[in-house]
Amino acid sequence: MYRTEDLNARVDELIRAGRLFFERGWVPATAGNFSARLDESHLVITASGRHKGELDADGFLLMGLEGEVLSPGRKPSAETALHLQLYRREPSVGAVLHTHSLTATLLSRLSRGALVLEGYEVLKALPGVDTHEVRVEVPIFANDQDIPRLAARVDAHMSEHPGLHGYLIEGHGLYTWGRTVADARRHMEAFEFLFQCELEMRRLTR
Ligand SMILES: [Zn+2]
Repeated sequence: MYRTEDLNARVDELIRAGRLFFERGWVPATAGNFSARLDESHLVITASGRHKGELDADGFLLMGLEGEVLSPGRKPSAETALHLQLYRREPSVGAVLHTHSLTATLLSRLSRGALVLEGYEVLKALPGVDTHEVRVEVPIFANDQDIPRLAARVDAHMSEHPGLHGYLIEGHGLYTWGRTVADARRHMEAFEFLFQCELEMRRLTR
């Protein structure tokens, strides 16, 4: 069973991530959702419709890994199943962050099937990457309001492509994750920087 100190610490980390991401324009208009694992069967996740730049402890709820709401009266985000899929699949996932940034939204519509990132030093911020001479594919899934169906598609893709660091949903945004909230935040910052590079490259070399 998790400790209250751990719950409070994870909530604080997610509140700070929300402020940072909002200031950078990555979670406009209550967009996005954030979560952290508390133990092998519990997580804390942002409640539906909360502004991510103005989160407080009331903006979160406790859930079981099977989708049980353990904070009575609080409604989980519509995209909770995408978080649960990652925690159930990978015991090493300790935090999941999802944003709707301009760059992720645009690139997910400009690329087909996957966004390929290669030749960038910043790729080394991703786990297991120790050189810029690498090809990182970020898959792009069609957007779907049927979230369990989308989660099943992500799960099937991960079975065939181990070592995934994040994925895009077309016209929607980015999901990334890590062992800790700090790790997931670093991956988010790396992806956002890489997406900006890609967009600028396409503009400049058009
Ligand atoms: Zn979303």
